Amino acid sequence: MGNSLNKRFSITSKNGISIEYNEMKIVLDPHKASDGDVVFISHAHIDHMHTPKRGTKVLASKETAFLAKERSFDLGETEQELDGFQLIDSGHILGSRGLLINEDIFYTGDFITRPRAFLSRCQSVKCKTLIIESTYGKDYFYFPPLTKILNEVNRLISDLFSQGIPVVLMGYPLGKGQVLSYLFSSWDPIYVHETVQKMNDAYIKMGVDLRKFVSYREAIDKGLLRKKPWILIAPMTSRRKDFVRLLKKRFNAVTVAFSGWSVLTSYKYAMSYDYAFPLSDHCDFDELVNFIKDCEPEKVYTVHGFSSELASHLRERGYDAIPL
Ligand SMILES: [Zn+2]
Repeated sequence: MGNSLNKRFSITSKNGISIEYNEMKIVLDPHKASDGDVVFISHAHIDHMHTPKRGTKVLASKETAFLAKERSFDLGETEQELDGFQLIDSGHILGSRGLLINEDIFYTGDFITRPRAFLSRCQSVKCKTLIIESTYGKDYFYFPPLTKILNEVNRLISDLFSQGIPVVLMGYPLGKGQVLSYLFSSWDPIYVHETVQKMNDAYIKMGVDLRKFVSYREAIDKGLLRKKPWILIAPMTSRRKDFVRLLKKRFNAVTVAFSGWSVLTSYKYAMSYDYAFPLSDHCDFDELVNFIKDCEPEKVYTVHGFSSELASHLRERGYDAIPL
């Protein structure tokens, strides 16, 4: 591949992000099979998953390929290395990567610059073109330091435990579920919903040091939940769903959700969680802006969430930025 960005470059956002670059079609996180010369899959969240056509050159980390298989997506033969391409740890979930193309174009995928539990932070990369996710690209998204959130949640659990009240910690089964399993593992007893347990087991198989917990199903069957208090790690589920209704009715459990969206006061009420904390797997607004500054890009494309808002903020600061 040549060095000049001007050689040939175009970018579109149909079926993921499609880049034409030096006679090559590179497709980033497509939702369905594509005809790219190279297909990049940043991580194993369902919105980034598909089963590629046979013979497609797929770039993904080995953890992403493994987690995809656990979720019934066969990525086929994947590669972690390819001439001109570099996978960069994006810190979002186990195996998540950004893609640096020819030290020229950097696609972050979902990323975060703060380390959490066993996950490390995404490092900035000097590039000419930056394609950055902007899930929380609006200035009211500020996430306090992890230690502050941990202190508050541990104090809350301690309070509830002293009254014999069980606590349901909620987050996405893949990613947040394992971070919660790790961060709160000193409490006892802890049970895990099957969807979280499946992903915990996959993480353990990939070498992450997670405690083995009794499943919710087994705890119900053996009557363990009658002995209160306890913690259950479960997927995000609204109070109106039967699963949570039962936990509240039978065990008087309190629900605690973990999401960046919880900085919006309306979120907790809309989803009817008892408590919500902004423990996120994405950058907050300042982290996004600082990351962009460190990458020193000539051109910025924003994708997902508040992409227009972040791009217009960047333009005010003198960047050449547009939402994709
Ligand atoms: Zn994700």
